[in-house]
Parts: sequence; structure tokens; C-alpha cells
Amino acid sequence: MKARRIFGDFEPYGWEPSNEQIAKEFGLKTDRILRFDTNTSPYIPSSLLQELKKGLEDLPVNRYPDTSYSILRRKLASYNKCNPDNIMVSNGADESLDIIVKTFVDENREVILSVPTYSYYPVLVRLMAGKVKQVKRNKDFSDNFAAIKNAIGKNTCMVMLCSPNNPTGNLVNPEGLRSLLETSCAVMIDEAYYEFSGKSLAHLTKSYDNLVIVRTFSKAFSLAGLRVGYTLASEKTTSLLNMVRPPNSVGVISLRLAEIALDNTKLVRENVSRILGERNRCTAELSKIRGIRVIPTNANFMLIRFGKYTGSEVYKKLAKRGLVVRDVSKLPALKHCVRFSVGKPEEDDVLLKTIREIAKG
Ligand code: PMP
Repeated sequence: MKARRIFGDFEPYGWEPSNEQIAKEFGLKTDRILRFDTNTSPYIPSSLLQELKKGLEDLPVNRYPDTSYSILRRKLASYNKCNPDNIMVSNGADESLDIIVKTFVDENREVILSVPTYSYYPVLVRLMAGKVKQVKRNKDFSDNFAAIKNAIGKNTCMVMLCSPNNPTGNLVNPEGLRSLLETSCAVMIDEAYYEFSGKSLAHLTKSYDNLVIVRTFSKAFSLAGLRVGYTLASEKTTSLLNMVRPPNSVGVISLRLAEIALDNTKLVRENVSRILGERNRCTAELSKIRGIRVIPTNANFMLIRFGKYTGSEVYKKLAKRGLVVRDVSKLPALKHCVRFSVGKPEEDDVLLKTIREIAKG
């Protein structure tokens, strides 16, 4: 048996370990573990689940879903003030990214990434036998548009950007983006964390066919377990993406719950303001600690840099105490950093106290 040649030096996505794996590695009880590494919401949206329960018995799970996901697309169109034909629904934002890469990336052609960024992008590009060209961000982690434009050549097929960027929290600058769009190279903007920043670049899809925006229900909607994401693009570009989209990748239960969530967007706004309030409290507390630097963020997670330790040392020190953050130290320019998502105040208090102790040495 021979797998594809790309697997010769392939680096897969670094999956988040399960609670069982962490418990085993660090000698802990699974119920003592607190997760801060997935950038998801700490709150279960119970009122949405109650609404789902009401119609559950009649849900046609015996049939495939309506493959065009028309009800959800109509509701998304109203949420995003666009037309249903500007929307493609997918199994999480990750499947949207997969579809976009399959649509634009040919073998041996280049994709430009503004690094450090979400580490699933290079995996997808390499799976299509494309080449990754990394352009380093500026010192403050903003995208270096001059260098990105410079890097675009005849062999470039796409630029993949993220706003707010995971893991640095920066927004993509609209003027910088416009200058890239004028080159007519395909540009993907991952807005998985959009609702936390309130700033979108989706309006530019009305003027530029070469722009695709990616969104998800996993973050501000508190619905990571649903696995529903979507893209926003011109009608022409959306038809292109639909040629690649698999027919039935989103289940009827997920579709129904996503529809219910869009009928209750007040809950999203409340959730976002609760998380942002808690994030600001964490930032204020962390700023008082000597020996660490908090990187400003527009999302529900934050990056902190330690003077004395590497990110993997901090990861281990915290994990031993049952606190799991994301070790981002292997990413460019982040050797001394860890990323953590905002949790419930009582959980964050435990994390803040432990970070204080670690920073003290
Ligand atoms: N994009 C970014 C930037 C992310 O951080 C994540 C979550 N890790 C995703 C996409 C994937 O989101 P989803 O759960 O919708 O697949």
C-alpha cells in the first residue's frame, strides 16, 4: 500500500488532547481538568436546547437534509444583510476552509499565509499538494501588507488571512485588504471570531469576486459541538464553492439548532458582552503581573508572553495543576507565549492565580 507522496514530510494538525490523555500524562483526575485551549464558550446555551426539544420528535432524521440548506441560508442572509445565494453552509468553518482550498489550490501553486496564524491552513494547503509561503507579521502582529503584496507572484493562487487572527487577536486592516483584492488573487478572510470584534470585511464581497469570508457557530454562538460554519462571497464565487461542497455534510439536528440560534441572536449579543467583560477583567489582572506581557486582542482569547519561560514550559507547569492552555511556542515569533480562552470568572480566577505564582518563579 502506498499513500500519496505528500505524506513523505507531512505535518498533521496538532489535535487538542482529550481530558483522558491529559489526566494520564500529568497524573490527574479528569474531573479536575479545566480547559482554556479551544477558544470555545464556557456556557451551554440551554434555552436553545429547550427550543430544539419542543420539535425534536417530528424532526425528519429518517431523510437526508435539504441539500441546499435553504432555511438556514435564508436566516443567515438576514443576519448578514445579504442574499442566500451569497452563502454556502458547511460542517464547521474547518470544512469551509477545506472547500475553499480545494477550489483555489492547484498542485505546486503557492498560498501565502500571514504568520503566526491558525495552524490548520498549511495542513489543508499541503493536502492539496500546494506550497505554503509564510510572510511574517509586523512586530505588533498586524499583517505586513507590503510584504504580502511583494510575495504575490505568477504562481500564487491564494492569500489566507484571519480577522481576528488566531492566536494573536489582530484585525485585518480594510485598506490593506483592498490593495490585495485589486491584484485579483483569491483572498480568504477567516472571521471565526467576528462577533467578538464586531468588525467584518464581508461588505467587500459585494465589490470583489476574489474575496471569501469564513464564519462559524462555534465561538460567539456557543455551539462548537454543532459543527456548522458558512462562507460569504459573491454569487459567482459561491457557485464555484458549491461545485466542491459535499452533498450532506451538515445533519438535520445541527441545522435545526443553528436556525433556532439565528432566531435568538439577542443571546449571542449577551454572551459576547459577558465574555468581553470577563476578558477585560482578565487583561487588567494580568497587566499587574511582573514578568508577563498581555498582547491586545479583539477576540475571546488572549496571548501572553513570559519573560523567563518558553510557552511549552508554561504549558507543562499549568497542565500539572490541571489547567490546559494552548502551547503556541512552535509558531513563528511566539516561543515564549501561551494562548488561553476566556472562561467562567471562577475558572479564570484559578488560572490567574496560578499564572501569578508561575511568573513569580
Ligand atoms: N478558524 C479559526 C481561526 C479557528 O480558530 C477555528 C477553531 N479552532 C476554526 C476556524 C474552526 O472552526 P469550526 O469549529 O467552525 O470548524
